[in-house]
Amino acid sequence: MSELERFREAGLISRKVKEEAYRIVREGARILEICETLEDLIRREGAEPAFPCNIGVNEIAAHYTATLGDVSRIPPRSIVKVDVGVSLDGYIADTAITIVLDPRLEPLAESARIALHEAIKAIKPGISTSKIGSIIHKTITGMGFKPIRNLTGHEIKRYNLHAGLSIPNIPTRRGERLREGHIYAIEPFATTMRGAGEVVSTKTVAIFRIDSETIFRKRLKDEEYQLAKLLAERFDSLPYTPRWIDGFDKFRRAHEKMVRTGKIYGYPVLVERLGEPVAQFEHTVYVSSNGCEILT
Ligand code: MN
Ligand code: MN
Repeated sequence: MSELERFREAGLISRKVKEEAYRIVREGARILEICETLEDLIRREGAEPAFPCNIGVNEIAAHYTATLGDVSRIPPRSIVKVDVGVSLDGYIADTAITIVLDPRLEPLAESARIALHEAIKAIKPGISTSKIGSIIHKTITGMGFKPIRNLTGHEIKRYNLHAGLSIPNIPTRRGERLREGHIYAIEPFATTMRGAGEVVSTKTVAIFRIDSETIFRKRLKDEEYQLAKLLAERFDSLPYTPRWIDGFDKFRRAHEKMVRTGKIYGYPVLVERLGEPVAQFEHTVYVSSNGCEILT
């Protein structure tokens, strides 16, 4: 099977996962159950989650996943982003949808969805990332909303979710060109006109990653060494959640300490700076000779 066919396979699985997400994201649903259901579906399809299932409620834009024993539920009248990654031997499909539980938030979600499709319509070899950002910005502002300027799409390579080139949601001074045969994730984020149009980090961290190449060069105490070995074997350098580690309690203190000392990297939860609701849609696309193919 060619590389493109592998990426297509991953994309097909991601579509099933999104269909399931549309079914199970409901007011009152447990966020832990949603994450586990979607991640299990990916595994049942013969793939692995490329990162923990991200659930972003209201002003949460990215990097939240259910924590161990999470009891939180989808609140009423909320806007919910579901962002999933499917990895088939490192061929990754990265895709996100927004589910709206209040009709008043529908136009916001619609602005991100249409911005994504306007961008995709324009994608072909040689288009600049700045032009894509400009299309996304124009579409979202034209509908009365604001793009999030410090979140971007990205190139995808095998086993590498954020490979080099970034694709902004606003025009930029200097653009780079998309190339035929390459894979990119396009992901417009939008908020209201009252919002700041940017995200900031919070103190909450639910998703982590190690650098499996360098972690063993650091001075590790016995417990830390055991944990590093487990993390490297299970996840290599891919993002993970403590939910995926059986008997995590035994490692809890070592894990906290390694996060504090920078041996484990934590992704802070990102929220809209002024607390306004955020919408996101994302597709992974393949740039063909005269346009692009949506893989997700
Ligand atoms: Mn994503
Ligand atoms: Mn992405």
